[in-house]
Amino acid sequence: MESINSKLKSLIEEIEKLPSIGPKTAERIALYLLSLEEQEIKKFLDTLTDARANLHLCPICFNITDKEICEICSDESRDRSSICVVEEVNDLLAIEKTGSYKGVYHVLHGDIDPINHKGPDQIKLKELLDRIKNSHIKEVILATNPDFSGDMTATYIAKLINSIKMDIRITRIAVGLPKEAEIGLADTLTLSMAIKERKEYK
Ligand SMILES: [Zn+2]
Repeated sequence: MESINSKLKSLIEEIEKLPSIGPKTAERIALYLLSLEEQEIKKFLDTLTDARANLHLCPICFNITDKEICEICSDESRDRSSICVVEEVNDLLAIEKTGSYKGVYHVLHGDIDPINHKGPDQIKLKELLDRIKNSHIKEVILATNPDFSGDMTATYIAKLINSIKMDIRITRIAVGLPKEAEIGLADTLTLSMAIKERKEYK
């Protein structure tokens, strides 16, 4: 006989599918959720359903928004000549929290990762090149993670940009970040320094 109830086990397994959640944390979250009042569970599920139904990707930068164009792209005070390229929306959120970047973004939704069979056409790369071709961009900041696939993605993008437009400054922000660090998880001060001390990347 199984020592753990099958319904509890299924709940733990579902929670474990979430990113960065190991078996122990999944157990804790499952037990916490079960301890909530019916009302609180309903509020949680309603918020999730509402977010799922009303949030979509910004057609310009692929940030998540409930507006037609996201809050950053529609902000007149942002510098549209600078694009910061990130892998995921949480990287954008982390950079926004530093308050030290006033340009716009481009979210790739992934990186180029041959080991996991992810190629350039599976991320929002063509869309980035179209943006660069069709607007007055002066600088592209490559803020992909400083790990193997993030570095490979940065190199690939820099080559592509150089092949279509030579007069764009290409920089990389990973300076100061520990190797293998995730931008979305970096602390605000380190990330702020990494943006300020970005280096030319050719
Ligand atoms: Zn946007």
